[in-house]
Amino acid sequence: MSERVFDWRKRRSWLARIRHYAGDILTPELKAHISRERPDCWSDDLSWLPDWECVVSEFVSALTDYYSHFKGFHGCRPSSLKSYYEHGLLGQSSERLHNVFRRIFADVAQADVEEVIQQFSDRGKREQGTIWLLGCDKFLISQCGHYLIQGSEYLMALAANLEPSRQGEAYRFRLRNYGVPTVLEIDIPVWYVPQSQHMDVAKMILSEWGQLVARKPLYLNGIPPCYVLRRDIPPECLVGHHHPEMIRDPHNGYRAYVNNFLTCDGCQTSTSG
Ligand SMILES: [Zn+2]
Repeated sequence: MSERVFDWRKRRSWLARIRHYAGDILTPELKAHISRERPDCWSDDLSWLPDWECVVSEFVSALTDYYSHFKGFHGCRPSSLKSYYEHGLLGQSSERLHNVFRRIFADVAQADVEEVIQQFSDRGKREQGTIWLLGCDKFLISQCGHYLIQGSEYLMALAANLEPSRQGEAYRFRLRNYGVPTVLEIDIPVWYVPQSQHMDVAKMILSEWGQLVARKPLYLNGIPPCYVLRRDIPPECLVGHHHPEMIRDPHNGYRAYVNNFLTCDGCQTSTSG
């Protein structure tokens, strides 16, 4: 099967391609009905679509047969990217993050550090092996910039809980001294993504298609799909990375954070870095 990458940022392209894989599902009759009735074509309530359960189920199969990959972006602040190009992107490991936490806060009383690690053991188990990605790099940088500015959310939570009454905030900001703010661009094989998320993407596409046919935009704020994987991603899926110069900082009123680290040890390895 040839590679076809679904890229949420290229709305015009994926809207145009619908007819190549779902022309017999979104029929001219269905189109005429929506054009005539002009319903509100929500993505979380598809009752605007006649026989919607059947249509969505057929559409999701056609979508995932047609596309081989979903393009996703992962925000992080790694100290080195070489290992990503050699070994890929590894799912969250609380053990690895606990060791980073111990290293960064080596000057803090060890008992306090270990107590926080202990408090987070359940969350660590729950999130073990998980990787979070978003379908749009611009959205990641403008709305979720803390992943680039401070790194892993788990690490941020550990830092914030270290003596929260006095130093939590300062400790969280300390994470800004390590690593390079980075956006990783990943072409995720469709079968890595859980079926419930296939369904979410299908509903988002159908909603956009419906709004166009009904000539009734709902202005849904351009929130991209979120891909939550429970597995490692091999290096061949990493198709690029970059280090944005300006990032909006959600932990500082979404003010501009200027990133002075614009290269890394992986920039030579990357084709687009
Ligand atoms: Zn780089």
